[in-house]
Amino acid sequence: MTDAIVIGSGPNGLVAATYLARAGLSVTVLEANREPGGAVRSRELTRPGFVHDLGAAFFPFANASPALRGLDLEAVGLEWCRGDLESAHPALDGTCASLTRDLYALETCFAGDGAAWRKAATWASSVKTKLLDLLLAPPVPMGAAWRFGVGNLLRLAEVGLSSGRGYSERRFASEAARRVLPGLALHTDVGPDDDCGAAVGFMLAALASIDGFAVPRGGTSAITRALIARLNEAGGEVVTGERVESIIVRRGRAHGVRTGRGEREARIVVADVAAPRLFLELVPESELPSSVIGSMRRFRHGFGTFKVDWALDGAVPWSHPDCARAAVVHAGENNDDLTRFVRQVRAGDLPDRPYLVLGQQSLLDPTRAPEGKHTLWCYSRVPSHRPWSKERESFADAIEARIEGLAPGFRGRILARHISAPPDLEATNENLIGGDLGGGSAQIEQQLIFRPTFPYFRYRTPIEGLYLGSSYAHPGAGAHGMCGYNAALAALDDRVMRR
Ligand SMILES: Cc1cc2nc3c(=O)[nH]c(=O)nc-3n(C[C@H](O)[C@H](O)[C@H](O)COP(=O)(O)OP(=O)(O)OC[C@H]3O[C@@H](n4cnc5c(N)ncnc54)[C@H](O)[C@@H]3O)c2cc1C
Repeated sequence: MTDAIVIGSGPNGLVAATYLARAGLSVTVLEANREPGGAVRSRELTRPGFVHDLGAAFFPFANASPALRGLDLEAVGLEWCRGDLESAHPALDGTCASLTRDLYALETCFAGDGAAWRKAATWASSVKTKLLDLLLAPPVPMGAAWRFGVGNLLRLAEVGLSSGRGYSERRFASEAARRVLPGLALHTDVGPDDDCGAAVGFMLAALASIDGFAVPRGGTSAITRALIARLNEAGGEVVTGERVESIIVRRGRAHGVRTGRGEREARIVVADVAAPRLFLELVPESELPSSVIGSMRRFRHGFGTFKVDWALDGAVPWSHPDCARAAVVHAGENNDDLTRFVRQVRAGDLPDRPYLVLGQQSLLDPTRAPEGKHTLWCYSRVPSHRPWSKERESFADAIEARIEGLAPGFRGRILARHISAPPDLEATNENLIGGDLGGGSAQIEQQLIFRPTFPYFRYRTPIEGLYLGSSYAHPGAGAHGMCGYNAALAALDDRVMRR
């Protein structure tokens, strides 16, 4: 009998396991894949010597997450690389607005609106710790809200109650600056005109301006290796290639799990698993309230993701010089262009002008490619269900055409490309249902007390001893480990209460 089993070795699973092990529990992490790490892995996908990130690539939460800070991953070999600029937002008309950690440099790189963003970013920086306590803690953190203060809450409400377009049009005069926050929000499924949509883009822009979009030296697997080093140090272990098929439940309590290799008993089970899979497939239906079953059947997934990785003969020949210095480049002309893109994806159509998030890891970390060569990482959001076997090559061509518009000569530098359509992403990690990288929609109706479903929003489930610790729980997507951390704390609290 183990004290705790964690299902899944994504960052949330590994963080949960490590904090449980540090509290003195015996812990085993069971991972379905042959390789640990979930969406935080890297590999040579195209050619030897070119290291590509399979999922997450940029880590604004590296310093910001209390869960990761508490593990001091740098002390077990993790090294961060940072760029000159964090995020560039170019358009075909030659304009570009870029975010930088040097808030005074915004004067020259934020398309004439540097002073306005500096004011907002300076405020976010001055309240960073209290703000993150408020946003990353289990909902609803009354103590953290009190410490944040009424003035700051009102200021945050101005962001939280606005759409991305509304907030940007009030704050910024130039079209280039106005596309920055809505562009960042489209890392999720939140469009420029969605209610309460400004918060997602604001948070990412604030984190870019405070801590930056860092990348781990050598590839994102370095983060997973560091997390496993901390887990092993605390006495925990990871077993790969062992998928959990069901949770053992007796009289409303979890007693362990069943895998292809047999039963494993445990007093605590933390699931780094997609919420609909946990409640509709792993737990017997008879053990759950019908309201939970109903809400999981209606669960709203985010957009699918279409990802391309390239091996390049040289750096991308961007027309705008800022792009050649930026960790991440976003391709989207303006808010109307982004809105049109969102409308097409929601209608189930392939976007004809795909919005792009482009990662230039090898600019920050030369170990990612042979000398003089580069990698490029890119995704667009797409409908999950399309005839992908027919459309994947032509959609990747459309993505290359969009990059070519902003960087003439790009195609001539391509040595090889690797495509991951939504079904390919799901095949590498079953939590990425339909290619959704966000653990479900990030729309306001599925946030806070509604994530993944009311009233089970504080990591506990209707089954005693079973906790949800994946990005399907608050605060959602991102390699911050906070969902696993909060789930582990809930499990430890319950254990103390039972004594
Ligand atoms: C293409 C892409 C780009 C991204 N970009 C970024 C980025 O730049 N920055 C950022 O911060 N975040 C990014 N993200 C999001 C981030 O990677 C995720 O939010 C994060 O990895 C979620 O962590 P997790 O532990 O909840 O789940 P995951 O990382 O998805 O891991 C879940 C693990 O559980 C395992 N599992 C599931 N079910 C079972 C079972 N029944 N039995 C055993 N094992 C099981 C899976 O195999 C998987 O290994 C990106 C994600 C993707 C896909």
